[in-house]
Amino acid sequence: MRVTIPEISVVIPVYNEEESLPFMFERIFRVLDALENPYEIIFINDGSRDATLPLLLQAWKQRPDVTRVVDFNGNFGQHMAIMAGFEAAKGNIVVTLDADLQNPPEEIPRIIRCVRDGHDVVGTVRRQRRDTFFRMAASRVVNMLTNKITGLSLHDYGCMLRAYRRDIVDIINDSAETATFIPALAQKFATNPAEIDVDHEERKQGRSKYSLLRLFRLNFDLMTGFSMAPLQAVTMIGILISAMSFIFAAYMFIRRLVLGPEAEGVFTLFAVLFLLMGVTVSCIGIEGEYVGRIYQEVRRRPRYVVRKIYGSDDEISGETSQ
Ligand code: UDP
Ligand code: MG
Repeated sequence: MRVTIPEISVVIPVYNEEESLPFMFERIFRVLDALENPYEIIFINDGSRDATLPLLLQAWKQRPDVTRVVDFNGNFGQHMAIMAGFEAAKGNIVVTLDADLQNPPEEIPRIIRCVRDGHDVVGTVRRQRRDTFFRMAASRVVNMLTNKITGLSLHDYGCMLRAYRRDIVDIINDSAETATFIPALAQKFATNPAEIDVDHEERKQGRSKYSLLRLFRLNFDLMTGFSMAPLQAVTMIGILISAMSFIFAAYMFIRRLVLGPEAEGVFTLFAVLFLLMGVTVSCIGIEGEYVGRIYQEVRRRPRYVVRKIYGSDDEISGETSQ
């Protein structure tokens, strides 16, 4: 059925996007058909519970030459879906984007051109971001903090409209991580990365698939996956508190000698105690974030389970991937 090896692979994770998909198909096929090179689109159905899968299969039946659908048997998350897409991708250039059309497909040719100019990873920065004020403010803080903590330098961690060259995709495929953040992983291995400005659209259909809690978890994946700094900060906080306590104790001892016994300041002491308890629990939490992820890795359960790949040359069903 497929005669040419695709030069460009477009990887799109999809989770409950039945409202967006018809518009998505219309725009993405038009953009990619206009490219001169052979391409393939790989949709990953991340355990959707709506009409996403039938819609994807319909697109595959209409354009079997350029479409493949990887169907997960549950919801494994956007980054795992992209990982599965990377494993299936055959192209020399792999482009990722969201299914909700917040990333305009019309930007793809520009990104590809940038890879052709010699960049192995092309990231994007949303020119005029159209999200809620809260998301944008939180993003700004996260971008800044993450760059500080991880030592990476990305201007927009949240924008998934990106392109990766084959050598980078191979390295990502080799790093079998379970809790990861793909743009950061790629940035780690890139030798000549670039960032370009792209348009951003409002989500016109459906709702964001990220609750506040999920965003939090994703950011912890990013922090713990790419930096030990939080652990070192915990040690530093410990040393600082110990030093301050020592000075405080010495001061109290001298007061005891000079002024005799006194019982004032009991409530101040409570306040200090509660503060320190808060610090202690937070520190255990940070350690826990790492320990939990180590546990997740050492169990070596499949990162995701593929029910079936539609349109693959070697039609596999029920395949799992470590
Ligand atoms: N997505 C996914 N699995 C998930 C959550 C999201 O595959 O568990 C997909 C989703 O369908 C979309 C992309 O990841 O294509 C980005 O999700 P969303 O637009 O909800 O995120 P936001 O733009 O709000 O950050
Ligand atoms: Mg979105």
